[in-house]
Amino acid sequence: MPENPDLTAPVARHAASLTTEEGGFPAQEQQPPGLTPPMDPLPDHGEDTYVGHDRLKGLRALITGGDSGIGRAVAIAYAREGADVAIGYLPEEQEDATATAELIHEAGRTAVLVPADLRVQAACTTTIERVVAELGGLDILVNNAGYQMARTQGLEELTTEDMDRVFKTNLYAMFWLTQAALPHLGRGASIINVSSIQAYEPSTTLLDYAATKAAINNFTVNLAAEVGNRGIRVNAVAPGPIWTPLQPATQEGDHLKTFGADTPLGRPGQPAELAGAFVFLASPAEASYVSGTVVGVTGGKPVF
Ligand code: NAD
Ligand code: MG
Repeated sequence: MPENPDLTAPVARHAASLTTEEGGFPAQEQQPPGLTPPMDPLPDHGEDTYVGHDRLKGLRALITGGDSGIGRAVAIAYAREGADVAIGYLPEEQEDATATAELIHEAGRTAVLVPADLRVQAACTTTIERVVAELGGLDILVNNAGYQMARTQGLEELTTEDMDRVFKTNLYAMFWLTQAALPHLGRGASIINVSSIQAYEPSTTLLDYAATKAAINNFTVNLAAEVGNRGIRVNAVAPGPIWTPLQPATQEGDHLKTFGADTPLGRPGQPAELAGAFVFLASPAEASYVSGTVVGVTGGKPVF
């Protein structure tokens, strides 16, 4: 049987971005939170490939951390599926946020930019208020903002300051944003939290981060039970190793040469490869009976 070129083309494209002898990315480092333009190679957010089919037509979404990485890929996909999209990000990421907004505009949708440090409760509340005012409501909340810092020292060296940054960004902000958003979410609305393979297969270098991702899974299942009778669905996506600014900003540079090589598919993923899962979970028609679950996009590592 002749090989169907359509089955292999996307994988070939992503594999072509692996430029080192070891099959990964060149060693490189940035300061957190990290930006897109200095990355070598640039990540693929689906700019040239994602095709929408009106699956989110007229819906209004907030994606925290929507300036870059996975959040940018979701913003492009949601806009091309017909949604208006607000993105949250840190003020120092304005350059990335502006680039994402341009992609939303190119899709013919409204973009709302909300710079704020979500480690502060008032910033979470104000973010939701601004989004509801400027988009006229809210149907999809994607709690995607996240922070990690790889550390070679053990638990005894972990400071309260380190823990605060990780727990506040990944957990407190998710609770505060969801609390503020719930009064605005109607039947058919959905919440999507971003977990990680670290919830299932934790690295000793990410002790605090991995704990937050396990907590995010637990929160997802539990909140789904709480708000199910209101017709609101709550799910999570657990990414594996994905090429985003978070990696050069929080891992030792050399680590990137073999990044993702230990997955069953043998390579890291690109942000564009996450978009389908987020679109599916947000779609009121396609995922109408899907709640309290975690979709793994891990290159084959198990999420159970
Ligand atoms: P990214 O750096 O592109 O996105 C993370 C975003 O979080 C940043 O753009 C920033 O806007 C936001 N953020 C961080 N601290 C914040 C704060 N205090 N206030 C407001 N916003 C803040 O990286 P990414 O990899 O796309 O990360 C998105 C999500 O995916 C995170 O939750 C991350 O934990 C998760 N994740 C990533 C990977 C991976 O390999 N890249 C793997 C598993 C899970
Ligand atoms: Mg960013």
